[in-house]
Formats: sequence, C-alpha cells, structure tokens
Amino acid sequence: MIPVQEAMDRILAAVTPLGSEIVAIDRALGRVLAEPVVARLDHPPQAVSAMDGYAVRAADVATLPARLRVIEEVAAGSLPNKAIHTGEAARIFTGGAVPEGADTVVIQENCTRDREHVAVVEGSHARGRHIRLAGNDFKQGQVGIEAGHRLTPSHIGLAAAMNWPWLAVTRRPRVAIVSTGSELVHPGEALKPGQIVGSNGLALAAFVNAAGGEAIHLGIARDDESALSALIDRAAGADLLLTSGGASVGDHDLVQGVLKSKGMTLDFWKIAMRPGKPLMFGRLNGMCVIGLPGNPVSALVTSTLFVGPAIARMLGLRGVHPRVMRARLAIDLPANDLRQDYLRAELREDERGLIVSPFGKQDSAMLTALSHSGALVIRAPHAPAAAAGSEIEILRLS
Ligand code: AMP
Ligand code: MG
Repeated sequence: MIPVQEAMDRILAAVTPLGSEIVAIDRALGRVLAEPVVARLDHPPQAVSAMDGYAVRAADVATLPARLRVIEEVAAGSLPNKAIHTGEAARIFTGGAVPEGADTVVIQENCTRDREHVAVVEGSHARGRHIRLAGNDFKQGQVGIEAGHRLTPSHIGLAAAMNWPWLAVTRRPRVAIVSTGSELVHPGEALKPGQIVGSNGLALAAFVNAAGGEAIHLGIARDDESALSALIDRAAGADLLLTSGGASVGDHDLVQGVLKSKGMTLDFWKIAMRPGKPLMFGRLNGMCVIGLPGNPVSALVTSTLFVGPAIARMLGLRGVHPRVMRARLAIDLPANDLRQDYLRAELREDERGLIVSPFGKQDSAMLTALSHSGALVIRAPHAPAAAAGSEIEILRLS
C-alpha cells in the first residue's frame, strides 16, 4: 500500500497535457483555453458616453443653472459631425461617441430641454464624469484571459469583445470506461436472482464529462478473461482507460491479469486509504489505465481524488488538485488506523463557517449517503481522536 499523496504524485507524473483544437466561440464554454486571448482592438474604440444626457464642457457647467445650445444628437453607432465650443452641448445617448471639445456628460435628469437649448439645473459635473475613455476596458494587445482557464460565461463575453469568433482550447481527454462483474445488468433491465444494477459505468461517465473529459462508455464485461479482454481492446485510442471492479485478489478479479497480458506496465496497486484501497494504476500502449474498485462509493471517491486531477492535467488546467478546505466537526471521531479515511459527511454553514457531520454508516456500497454528502472528511493515517467542535480538513463535493 502506498500513501494517497504518493499515488496522486505518481499519476500526475505519468499524465501530460494534450494538444489543442480550434472551436467556434459559441462552443467554447467550459473548455480550457490553450492560448491566451489577446485583444484585437481597443475597447471602447473611442471615448463614449456612459449615460443618456448632454455632452458639454465642464467649465460651462461649473455654475448652475447653465444654458447651452444643443448643436447635434449622437446615438450609439454613429459619430458626431461637430465639435463642442463654449456655450454648446450635444444631445448624447449611452454608447454615443463624445464629440471633440466636450469633456463631460450631464445626465438628462439634471437638465430641462427647451427646443434648441438645454438648461443644466442641478448636479455637480466634474470633468470626465460619465465618459468612458478609449481603451477604458482594454487596449489592443492586452491579454484578457491566460491559457489554462476553464472558460466561463464572462470569459466568453470578454473573448467576444476582444473580437475573437473562435478560440484555441485543449482537446477533451477521451476516457474509455469498462465495468466488470458477472452480476451486473444495465439500469432498466429485468434482474435475475443474484444480479444487481451496474451503476458505476454511468456514474463514472458523468464524472468524466463533468470534469471536462469525453466519456466513452464501453459497457459491462462478465468476469471471464475473454469478455474482459475484448472490451478492453475497444479502448484503443483513448487517452485514459478506467475500469471498475475486479481489482482485488479474489478468484474473479481478473482486471490486472488481463491488462498485464496485453502489455500493461503496472505503476502501483493498492493505496492506504478507505474507501478505495485496491486502486491500480498503469500504462498500456501510451494510454494511462486506472483500475477503480467496484464498490460504487469507492469508485467515485477515488475518481474525485485521482481521475479528476488526471483529467485536469490532460486539459492543461492551472490547478489540478482537489481543494482542501477546513470545517468544524459536528460529532466526535475516534482515532484513525493506518489508512487515510475519506468520510462521507453532511455539510452545513452557520455564521462561524462550515460544519461537517460524518454519516454514522460509512459503507462503501452506500450510494445514498454519498449522494447526500456535501463533503468528504479527511482523516490522516493514525490521526488522533477528534472532538466535536474541532477543525478538520475536508474536500468539498460539488
Ligand atoms: P469488485 O471490485 O468487482 O469485487 O466489486 C466490489 C463490489 O462492488 C461488489 O459488491 C460488486 O457487486 C460491486 N460492483 C462492482 N461493479 C459495480 C457496478 N458497476 N455498479 C454497482 N456495483 C458494482
Ligand atoms: Mg467484481
């Protein structure tokens, strides 16, 4: 058994970022940027009004009321024809280009209009008020988004504003998923005695897709070498192969043997953790292979710890490690043994911060508890007993 941290380090050392591809910007949400987004223009391109009102010279409205002659009207999308001289104003709308000579916009609420004239009757109008200068948001050549960010809606808006109709993003890792177990049927099928519904394939595919990968759900192999071998062959060309089940030492645990017979080099097998001890990692023809335990909770907890970071590394994301946070314990916990525990726990928040309450039953086959868990409580090997109210490390689940 190796420690969790060493397992994580060994997996990340073996995984490298994938190449990039170009996608239309309206397909880029959630993808990871492969090249920085650099502004192709200044924004705004010239000084514009931030409000509906009148473009004036600040000196003309230093004392109120001030009566000015309105010489033209500027709306967004057209440019002014005339410069503003002393005693003059231009009617202007939000986004309208500020005429030469004007240095301030007075909002219309501060004015009364009388045909060709406007009287500025109230407000204080410091020079530059309500004007967005050219390049106020960004200037040509400025980096808007660095590579390695997962694109959010505001990133998409910024990249579009910087005049990019397409973006270079990293390729989504292709992750093949093979479930093993003679007892498994697909959800919705009629169950014969002794059979159970296999849920790992779908849960893992969902995990992979949510992490930014492209899940290829290959189905279920019976616990026989040829069935398993045939399904694993269909993973050829994937960046990562995930297997679930058959990872222990029982007579029906065939995954490691079949993979080795195909030429897999084993990196490690068994981690000092609970749940998830029998996890296996290796490489087969340039493809990383993570053999996950069959117990559904173990499969998802180990995915959170190892598969998520591996996908993040392939995607070229900046931060790849799950973020450890701190919370207050709601109950007492006993001292831990030699394995690092990840306890499924309810997560709440009060005015003093986060509170975690580990479930009484920590059975690694209980998906109900996991799906009600907001966090995993981390218990280091040999951690002493922890009292209710003490601070403890958690992994927040999303
Ligand atoms: P194994 O690692 O194959 O010994 O499986 C451990 C436990 O997880 C057994 O009780 C299996 O029935 C169960 N199991 C294995 N694969 C799945 C799956 N895809 N969905 C639900 N349970 C599974
Ligand atoms: Mg099995």
